[in-house]
Amino acid sequence: MMATNGKDACGQNGDDPSVSLNGGNDTSHSSAVNGKKAPSRNGGTGEERFTFSPQPTMEDIRRLQAEFTDERDWNQFHQPRNLLLALVGEVGEVSELFQWRGEVAEGLPGWTDSEREHLAHELSDVMIYLVELAEKCRVDLPRAVLRKMALNREKYPASKVHGSAKKYTEYED
Ligand SMILES: [Mg+2]
Repeated sequence: MMATNGKDACGQNGDDPSVSLNGGNDTSHSSAVNGKKAPSRNGGTGEERFTFSPQPTMEDIRRLQAEFTDERDWNQFHQPRNLLLALVGEVGEVSELFQWRGEVAEGLPGWTDSEREHLAHELSDVMIYLVELAEKCRVDLPRAVLRKMALNREKYPASKVHGSAKKYTEYED
């Protein structure tokens, strides 16, 4: 999908060789949290959880995208509504990669390296536009995420909803 100015996804940082936006699967850094190994997934299969690289932070991404946009004089196009539409378009591009495949298992078994890289690019487009949209709306996204997750914990107490996919309105006190 073409973005503003007829350029594909104007707003990517893909041409900045100094920063990798590919979280990759570098297992050289520990998945430990507070000195404890992260719990294995899927009820104790022994397989370690996938983890992200610690950098770039969300603020790093905001700054890199702001530099990218400033250098091209694209802020005149990057108003909140335009960024929202660009974000939705990029979500559509992610969807195209899953379209007609049926259910896809975690880890994407059977996907080629090229397909995985394509997905990484499109998910990055989503992230970049999301972060820029938040910036232009003056939402401090990392802090907002923490506030929302706290609300989610209140709405869905683990003791009450464990193993259930019900919406919070469906639970009885
Ligand atoms: Mg894209």
